[in-house]
Amino acid sequence: MPRGERLPFPTAEPWYQPNADEVQVFEQCHARQLAVMLKGPTGCGKTRFVEHMAWRLGRPLITVSCHDDMTASDLLGRFLIGTDGTRWIDGPLTRAVREGAICYLDEVVEARQDTIVVLHPLTDYRRILPLDKTGETLEAAPGFQLVVSYNPGYQRMLKDLKPSTRQRFVALEFDFPDADREAAIVEREGAIDAPTARALVSLAGRLRALQDRGLAELPSTRLLIATARLIGSGVALRSACNVALIAPLSDDPALVGAMRELVELTF
Ligand code: ADP
Repeated sequence: MPRGERLPFPTAEPWYQPNADEVQVFEQCHARQLAVMLKGPTGCGKTRFVEHMAWRLGRPLITVSCHDDMTASDLLGRFLIGTDGTRWIDGPLTRAVREGAICYLDEVVEARQDTIVVLHPLTDYRRILPLDKTGETLEAAPGFQLVVSYNPGYQRMLKDLKPSTRQRFVALEFDFPDADREAAIVEREGAIDAPTARALVSLAGRLRALQDRGLAELPSTRLLIATARLIGSGVALRSACNVALIAPLSDDPALVGAMRELVELTF
């Protein structure tokens, strides 16, 4: 986006099917300027929820996928040397703070601790962002809200958020939707007929029961949608399940064999 241009406001509604009262709770958090943490497995609707809420609240949304090479400067900004001298370029967090956007840090646990700490002064009553490099201290514009996502199961032994960070957020728990809701999502997002969507969800239920047999990640709603789309574009049903649902989940031949049997049982 060219410099000086303001962030776009969301126009079309990103469809989101609520599971409980998360829409209302989030609205209250926004009104009270509270930072929110979305906890839950990958592919269960956290990103879609934030997109929907940004649209609902009429705020621009800036999304950052966190990774372990990410530095504080990647969030805050940096000086760039150009032909006309040195100029400061805002990072995504700074931009969101200035413009009153919702800033969504996806998989925040991936970021290093010294990167995460820059969030702290934004998550309490001060709502400030000190920019050491420019000497500025920004006060967050009224609509600014910090939202982070966090998958508690993933790499739990290796990485976790510090309690001093966690306690700065209201935590909303996400999980895969119940069967009726998930079937409606797969039908709509996967553009597939209702009976096939239902069958895919029932297969997912059986696959998710294999968690104790060593599945690191459970089949997500996202994987079901990808499978549905392949089926919709003419790929044979079992083949679509094998490539889009099962192969991404495991390389262990015994586990893959067990999952394929469940596909045979379902269709
Ligand atoms: P996450 O951010 O939790 O990894 P996403 O929000 O990207 O997951 O969800 C994956 C896809 O599943 C979305 O793009 C959307 O198509 C669908 N989805 C999941 N949950 C919902 C929901 N409650 N309402 C609408 N779509 C959903």
